[in-house]
Amino acid sequence: MTKNVVRFRSVLGQSPDVSFQEALFRGLAPDGSLYVPERIPRLPDEVIRSSSTRSLTALGLEVVSLFIDEIPLETLEEIFAKALNFPIPLVRLDEDVCLLELFHGPTLSFKDVGARFMAQAMAHFLEQEDKNITVLVATSGDTGSAVAHGFHNVPRVRVVVLYPSGKVSSLQEQQITTLGGNTTAVEVDGTFDDCQKLVKQALAEPDIAGRCNLTTANSINVGRLIPQISYFAWGVAQWQRLRQPERQRGSREKAGFVVPSGNFGNLTAGIYAKRMGVPVDGFVAAVNANDVVPEYLRTGTFAVRPSIQTISNAMDVGNPSNLRRLEHLAGNDLAVLRQYFNGFSVSDEDTRREIKQTFEATSVMLDPHTAVGTHLARRLAKRGGFTTPIIVAATAHPGKFPEIVGETLGRNIPLPEQLERIVRLPKQSTRIAFDFDQLRSLLLD
Ligand SMILES: *Cc1c(COP(=O)(O)O)cnc(C)c1O
Repeated sequence: MTKNVVRFRSVLGQSPDVSFQEALFRGLAPDGSLYVPERIPRLPDEVIRSSSTRSLTALGLEVVSLFIDEIPLETLEEIFAKALNFPIPLVRLDEDVCLLELFHGPTLSFKDVGARFMAQAMAHFLEQEDKNITVLVATSGDTGSAVAHGFHNVPRVRVVVLYPSGKVSSLQEQQITTLGGNTTAVEVDGTFDDCQKLVKQALAEPDIAGRCNLTTANSINVGRLIPQISYFAWGVAQWQRLRQPERQRGSREKAGFVVPSGNFGNLTAGIYAKRMGVPVDGFVAAVNANDVVPEYLRTGTFAVRPSIQTISNAMDVGNPSNLRRLEHLAGNDLAVLRQYFNGFSVSDEDTRREIKQTFEATSVMLDPHTAVGTHLARRLAKRGGFTTPIIVAATAHPGKFPEIVGETLGRNIPLPEQLERIVRLPKQSTRIAFDFDQLRSLLLD
């Protein structure tokens, strides 16, 4: 290939640069920090100009192939098409807000895109090298099911999912604990942050990591981050189509994004998209009561806190790991980081009101995570200074949260068919304390 190869670098800079394959399987760099692309490649102008005439797969391939040249282009195209075998429509909600519906995958959240791409990419390398792996993942709700689903029936892979006991919805728990086969669900007496600590600890222990051939699959894995860049390009491309059917296609109309954020992986992918040349006006992170990042942007002080439980529980993250990636991209300069994005917190009360008012006005049901985003988008639109309509990343299907959405709207929420099937299956999980030794014996079993 004639392209410049992108290597992957640890944000701490204490470990050597590696290939995509190595970053994919390591998850974390040996120095314990996250991998980032050493540079962000530019999309050719021609691709940006013609993006609104391309298919999702074609556009995604343009993005992903600039980062990954170790997989033949035809294979990469197959992987992308397999991972993204569902639509990602841009839907106009009202005057001010468009929804980029990222939730039409098998587990009904945007995490399907990254998880399925990563699983397929790993499967490609495992087959090539005749190896087995254990994928260890911590989830605050949606990651575990997306990852487990992505790897389900993938040969040579064992999946171990850690989730905080009593802190995921019953449907999310069903999705994690009923897969069986190559998947083990582990219920931890602790918070999501505790689960994440256990994962980090396991990955840092050479005996475990070596013996199990351990890898992780949270939003910290570059194999999930890279494909997510493509749907921001896709969102803008559809926006141009939606906005000016009469004008010449490919005019550089910018869009602004509001991204409901927890670990800030999705937002990081969006900012990478902008750096690649995708015409984006700006980014705003919408968070729930877990507001350490907006506070950091405001005050310059980053104070990690235990996560607070909210109704948008996939965003209950007290120490968002992808912030390190964004800081690295900004050269550890807070002023630069503030140019990349802003962030604001939305209360549970406002989230519920948003779900209710949107349904009354438009008959559209929002899930609690997306509603955090649309509430903020409306606030920004009212205040001005941000291009409208604003594209909100719609991160989950409302049918995934029937308790909260149903209670808020005072009506029964029909279960989507993907979930109908699994609610009747028996829960299979192993319960452990927040204790590394218990996880150790489970992994080495
Ligand atoms: C994971 C998740 C988020 C947060 O995404 P990050 O990339 O972790 O910021 C938002 N909404 C839903 C439904 C999620 O599952």
